[in-house]
Amino acid sequence: MIKVFTTKKDFDHYRNALKSEKIGLVPTMGNLHKGHISLIEKSTVENDVTIVTIFVNPKQFGPNEDFDKYPRTLDEDLAKISAMALLISAQKEIAVFAPGSNEEIYPQGFSTTISVGPMTQKFEGSVRPTHFDGVTTVVYRLFTITRAHIAYFGQKDVQQCLIIKKMVKDLDIKIKIHIMPIVRNAEGLALSSRNQYLSESERAEALTLPQTLVKIEKLIRTKQDYKTFVSDVLKNDKRWDYLEILDSDNMEAPSAKTQELVIVAAFRSGTTRLLDNILVPVHAG
Ligand code: AMP
Repeated sequence: MIKVFTTKKDFDHYRNALKSEKIGLVPTMGNLHKGHISLIEKSTVENDVTIVTIFVNPKQFGPNEDFDKYPRTLDEDLAKISAMALLISAQKEIAVFAPGSNEEIYPQGFSTTISVGPMTQKFEGSVRPTHFDGVTTVVYRLFTITRAHIAYFGQKDVQQCLIIKKMVKDLDIKIKIHIMPIVRNAEGLALSSRNQYLSESERAEALTLPQTLVKIEKLIRTKQDYKTFVSDVLKNDKRWDYLEILDSDNMEAPSAKTQELVIVAAFRSGTTRLLDNILVPVHAG
């Protein structure tokens, strides 16, 4: 049985009763798929108590974005978590904090914004300038509310992962950040709540994204000229917002110190913007 809390007051009461338990946090916006579930599963393996938060955070949506139409499926989400909770050890616990209103997270008069700085303005930030400030503000809030020891995030949102790690380092927050690999469907498309906005033909078109990344990965691994390939793709196909090969540590141009590359992209299929990336060790052969 999972425990579900919809008010901060009830959640605080539950949290205050926990003592030496090791606590994992999985922040989500709900509409859970196997990518989210992989994070929850990992947390249940590594912790005594897993707190899953389900909150569509208004602060991370721009004025013309999909906040209103973002899929809200709390009953189905709770059913999915309950089903997986049956499969874990009886010693482990899952609690869901699904705030019933925005005021549970941002009470009246809340005016603080956490901003990590320059990295929030490139790539995703160049099209969504206030997005990452919204993300770090809610994540910081969830860290302080849950007082978790480890938080789990998905590699799919690679820039978000780097920004959260930077916030944790700069503010010296006592929490570990674990990044989990991207979960894909059978055709290779990274699972995302936004995939359901795609029509059948857009879904087929969307496969260009993972297929192109895999092609670039092969060129890198076989030491062929990937740069010409990438510049041809970008020249001929306007559906790419960006497609770059970067140092995975900082999303900057690779240098002599680079240990691992990330092939990172944003691609538009119809009006839906999809993100994906692949990590490639520099000395991959
Ligand atoms: P969201 O609900 O979209 O905010 O995502 C919640 C968490 O799940 C974030 O840390 C995401 O990076 C992660 N996530 C989303 N999609 C995937 C995926 N396909 N595989 C693994 N993790 C994912």
